[in-house]
Amino acid sequence: MKIYKGHIIFTKERQQFDVVEDGYVAVGDDGRVLGTSADLISLDCGDAEVVDFGDRMLIPAMNDVHVHAAQYHNQGIAMDFELLPWLSEYTFPEESKFSDVGYAERMYSRFVRHLWRVGTMRSAVFATIHTEGTRRLMELFRAAGMGALVGKVAMDRNCPAILSESAGDYVKGMEQLIADYGDADSLVRPIVTPRFIPTCSPAMLRACADVARRHSLPVQSHLSENKSEIAWVRELEPDSRGYGDAYRRYGLFGPMPTVMAHCVWSGAAERRLMRDGGVMVAHCPTSNFNVASGMAPVRTFLDEGINVGLGSDVSAGHDFSIFRIMVYAIQVSKMHYQQSGHQLPFLTLSEAFWMATKAGGSLFGRVGSFEPGYDFDALVIDDSDLYPEDYTVLQRLERFIYTGDDRNIALRFCRGREVKPL
Ligand SMILES: [Zn+2]
Repeated sequence: MKIYKGHIIFTKERQQFDVVEDGYVAVGDDGRVLGTSADLISLDCGDAEVVDFGDRMLIPAMNDVHVHAAQYHNQGIAMDFELLPWLSEYTFPEESKFSDVGYAERMYSRFVRHLWRVGTMRSAVFATIHTEGTRRLMELFRAAGMGALVGKVAMDRNCPAILSESAGDYVKGMEQLIADYGDADSLVRPIVTPRFIPTCSPAMLRACADVARRHSLPVQSHLSENKSEIAWVRELEPDSRGYGDAYRRYGLFGPMPTVMAHCVWSGAAERRLMRDGGVMVAHCPTSNFNVASGMAPVRTFLDEGINVGLGSDVSAGHDFSIFRIMVYAIQVSKMHYQQSGHQLPFLTLSEAFWMATKAGGSLFGRVGSFEPGYDFDALVIDDSDLYPEDYTVLQRLERFIYTGDDRNIALRFCRGREVKPL
């Protein structure tokens, strides 16, 4: 057992922070939280070692529930396009380079290092169709000691031939990865990843659902991001009542843990299917800005009981930092607040923090909180260069989120173990 001491901040509930100033968190040898307390005695921890972080803050690590590892090289470029031309002009040509395992290795190690830098200890990741490149990415995460759900991407139509694979070959590749990474308790696991309906034939979508069901794997994809995309899905899937309903009909909309990126234009019927299937939204506000998709109705999702995590969506999103994404999510919600005539309350800081930690973390198990039984995924925040002395602990956290950066992250932990740079 280990005891960590510092200013402990987390969000058990989304409406408020739990703060224990100069508090203690006890972590078992299995890397899971045993309890938090303002004093050592009530933790009943015998003579366990106490690691004192002094005046620093101790918060849950960040979870990125939607990001594309193979788009690392395109981060911060190609911003003059909407979704569909952006895919064909920039994204597909870059992803086709990942048939070269050496190239994949080089890009993926930069990608994992960048996640580490910004304090993201868990991520739901799209790789490419290439099995060996995807395996390299999983090895890199495992070597780093960081958690990830890694998706070999399924595509077999409306994409360059070089990025197309038959449903049979997709399943074969997935089974190779599952053989090495299929353990349910593993930090790094495969996730079933049909790219989106336009690039997946009915046979491919059925194969994806079958792999997910047989191996109890989670599912990730994109949903209702852009109006041209939605119109295209309507043409491709005339028998479905909408985009979400198309996934549902193929068995890809729950009950396996499922996360759908964007959901900018999800209407009431689609939202009902999401709630009924337990589908999580990956809210990616920077991406929605950059490819001019729109503003996702996050307050409505939350009010209707739909879970929402935060995603960087690099490279349609330009910024890896989930702290920055929290700020953008709050700002988008303030635009909704204005447009709704103040009917839709904007997101508070605790709500954004909760989405980045406990809500997003639920995709990976018991992750994102310091409640007993949760994996100890944590960041030690040193805000000494932000003149903390005149502020409360919560104000210090807020200032760090709005104005700090990765230089303020002193230490990172994933399931109880300190994570060093790759
Ligand atoms: Zn995406």
